[in-house]
Amino acid sequence: MVDWKTLEKKWQTRWAEAAAFETDPDPEKPKYYLTVAYPYPNSPQHIGHGRTYTLTDVHARYMRMRGYNVLFPMAWHFTGTPLFAMVERLKERDPALVDTFLNLYGIPEKKLKDLETPVSMATYFANEIKGGMKKIGYSIDWRRTFTTVDPYYSKFIEWQFAKLRQKGYITQGSHPVGWCPHCGNPVGQHDTIGDKEPEIEEFTLIKFRKGDTVFPAATLRPETVYGVTNMWLNPDAMYVEADVDGETWIVSAEAARKLEMLGHKVQVASEFQGARLIGQTLTNPATGREIPILPAPFVNPKNATGVVMSVPSHAPFDYVALEQLKREAKANPEAYKFKPSDVSKLEPISVIELPGYGESPAVDIVNRMRITDQNSPDLEKATKEIYSAEYHGGQMRGNTGQYVGLNVQAAKEAVKQDLIARGNAATMYELIEQIQCRCGTEVVVKIFENQWFINYGDEAWKKLARENIDQMEIVPRELRQEFFNVVDWLKAKACARKAGLGTRLPWAPDWIIEALSDSTIYMAYYTVIKGINEAKPKPEQLTEAFWDYIFLGIGTPVKVEAATGIPMEKIEELHDEFSYFYPLDARHSGRDLIPNHLTFMIFIHDAVWGRELWPQGIFVNGSVLMEGTKMSKSMNNIVPLVGAVDRFGADPLRISLMITAEPLKDADFSPDLAKSMMGLLEGFNARAQRIISEKQEGAYELQEIDLWMLSRLQSHISDANEAMHELKVRKTIHAATYDLEGDLDWYLKRVAYDREHQERKRAISHVEWTVLDAQIRMLAPFTPHLCEEIWEQMGNEGFVAFAPWPEVDGALIREDAEELETIVKTCTEDVANITKVTGIKPSTIHFYTADNWKWKILEKAMEMQAKGSVDIGAMIREAFKDEEMRTKQKEVPAYARTLVDDVKKMPERTLKLRREMGFVNETRLIQDAERFLRAEFGCDVTVSGESDPWIEDPAKRASRAKPYRPAIYVA
Ligand SMILES: [Zn+2]
Repeated sequence: MVDWKTLEKKWQTRWAEAAAFETDPDPEKPKYYLTVAYPYPNSPQHIGHGRTYTLTDVHARYMRMRGYNVLFPMAWHFTGTPLFAMVERLKERDPALVDTFLNLYGIPEKKLKDLETPVSMATYFANEIKGGMKKIGYSIDWRRTFTTVDPYYSKFIEWQFAKLRQKGYITQGSHPVGWCPHCGNPVGQHDTIGDKEPEIEEFTLIKFRKGDTVFPAATLRPETVYGVTNMWLNPDAMYVEADVDGETWIVSAEAARKLEMLGHKVQVASEFQGARLIGQTLTNPATGREIPILPAPFVNPKNATGVVMSVPSHAPFDYVALEQLKREAKANPEAYKFKPSDVSKLEPISVIELPGYGESPAVDIVNRMRITDQNSPDLEKATKEIYSAEYHGGQMRGNTGQYVGLNVQAAKEAVKQDLIARGNAATMYELIEQIQCRCGTEVVVKIFENQWFINYGDEAWKKLARENIDQMEIVPRELRQEFFNVVDWLKAKACARKAGLGTRLPWAPDWIIEALSDSTIYMAYYTVIKGINEAKPKPEQLTEAFWDYIFLGIGTPVKVEAATGIPMEKIEELHDEFSYFYPLDARHSGRDLIPNHLTFMIFIHDAVWGRELWPQGIFVNGSVLMEGTKMSKSMNNIVPLVGAVDRFGADPLRISLMITAEPLKDADFSPDLAKSMMGLLEGFNARAQRIISEKQEGAYELQEIDLWMLSRLQSHISDANEAMHELKVRKTIHAATYDLEGDLDWYLKRVAYDREHQERKRAISHVEWTVLDAQIRMLAPFTPHLCEEIWEQMGNEGFVAFAPWPEVDGALIREDAEELETIVKTCTEDVANITKVTGIKPSTIHFYTADNWKWKILEKAMEMQAKGSVDIGAMIREAFKDEEMRTKQKEVPAYARTLVDDVKKMPERTLKLRREMGFVNETRLIQDAERFLRAEFGCDVTVSGESDPWIEDPAKRASRAKPYRPAIYVA
């Protein structure tokens, strides 16, 4: 049994003592610089974080073994407001928070009072996370650590913002932002429950009227106004009549408050239930048609205005709801304030023609998917399909006035602008999806005055970002388009707020730069912070000129020394260190950061630096599920990383997080998985111990079976290499464990009886040693502690962490040896099948090998196939030119016919190989394997050629023998 704790401690101490992962510039070696998003320390890490960081560590270790001078640093992101809210809750001793701290996070109760400031709380968790990263064995250069509230870091961020402002990328103005009314702050992804990005849409509010009263129907599809059959209001929700900018509007009570946030003048006159308005009629401003207001419990008063127009022809929800209402009103007329006949005559009005769908696309899809209930989950899918299909392929019909013939995409904008121009519509910003601030309050949209923005909407800037994305390595490859999409929709982003930890805007110090804006180019800062710390300057010495020289090479060290007082040697050294490690080769992160952080990183780099220093690669991974479900506090299934290392061991945990899925897929973790990985590694270790203790010195000669094993090893190394190239870790681990060990098990069975001979023993020891040596190196990035231990026991100098990653040795690839062994393997499998099917306990197994003339015909057939195609007639004619063949008037055509299919199906590589190999002495091959076959089946084994005069062939099977497929009789 492996004592994981001792093993981990031993190697972590050794690495630390040797400063193995502290990386300085080395002009002799190519560099590889990779980073991973630094943690926001407001909780301990769980194994979900562990996957992203472990993958980065595996990548770092792999590149080291490929001979690179690898830098992998880590720091702490303190910026933002969430810690403030947590500190408040802690001070109040909020029972839920205290319970989480004590019981889930294991913080001692007496420690709580030390965590009552945002910085002390962040520091506590940063230390906890750091401890975990060391325990799991990450190969981090800890000398470069910092926090984002360090004075030096603030000087760096001030410089970043000065650069952006000089380039004109900072703007100020009024923009809609996600906003928490309770916290009084703009809200970004990090501030919301579930880390959801607040995405804002502009709704069109179409003014349906009753007299002078406006019912502003909120829609994302203004072009469907021609197809409205009725209005939906929620009878149970509260609505208000209010003066909005001088007009009388009916909207939900929530909407009145939101309109105010959005800068409208709102005066509420009265409040009442929606039920009061049901049955009234309104005028459609586009068509002049009168339409009824109908009840709809599905209308969400929190979404936009709470007034919804019904377009059953193009909105599956509306069609299903209308049909359902027709049925219910007919069955129970007293329950409704309108005449059922008024409803039953409402028919869908189609205004968009869509190829591939019927008259009314929504009706079509609802019938196709058999949806009859408005609560059906399929409705969402149907809606998405119709929305997208009509947007890309729909055309306005003859009943849409001046828009006839326009495509939907164009009509949408034209209808909207025309309605607004005539005073028949307004607009309203609203969140696409409702989300909550971490404080629990519903996030709203606020028009923010004089807010500072980074203008990611700048077209020229977007062009640079697209160029960068186009050139960079993105793994997995299929995500490149996702980045392009983000660049397309990205707009100006609020970059500062009035509260929280962080750096103040240099030109407007009442603003604090927010978390997604001060975390975009800090990879550059890692390269120099160690040197700055050594020099210990005062923060104010780190001026714009200082950063300009070390990051951009602007100015001279002499001038910078004169201006800052920092010695020019130091300034030169920092510039050199940055220049050595930059550009960044790989950025790792979870997939959820594509729409913000990862794309912002590209933008800001492209703004500050020239093309040669742009980021070179992005590596993205999915999340971790716990036994198939998402990990969350509410599910109570979060697995803290430190606890998991203690329970399962660092190496078993690391390999568990890597083996279940390729990076993009969600990985499924379970304690059973971790235990089975522990078993896998125990087994691996046990075999390694045996190989080491049985090591034989001295001369040996390799036989076919040894060559077979060494050749198979090359093929697994090749698989692992190919997979690692795209960081397909699952495939790599499979190649290095299950696939390789499958072949090794076969090999050991085949040579089990050879060990009686001293020379064979030495050959086998050589083969096993070679396999182990390669396997250790392939597994070292994944299970570094165990691999270091075995590496040392094998007598190697230095860490396996710096040993070369195995490469394929072309001289050891022996396709012919592999092809021959396939014959033995197939024979073994065939016998096993026969005994299994018949239940015979064999006393003798007879193998019959094919006659020479069969080999000759095969050779002909393969030659024909190689030239183009096999022709049976030509093949037989050709065969009968041979004297010996002519004596077999029946057998030759019969055998030739069976060959046609075989040869046609033969892979090109096999065909080529078999043609080169020519005649194979199968009799000798099986004789060589005789001891193995005897042992395998516990009986006698005989081999004879199918025409041998001494043949024992009681069942007349011998004539069935084919090249590469001896005939078998089990007696
Ligand atoms: Zn809040």
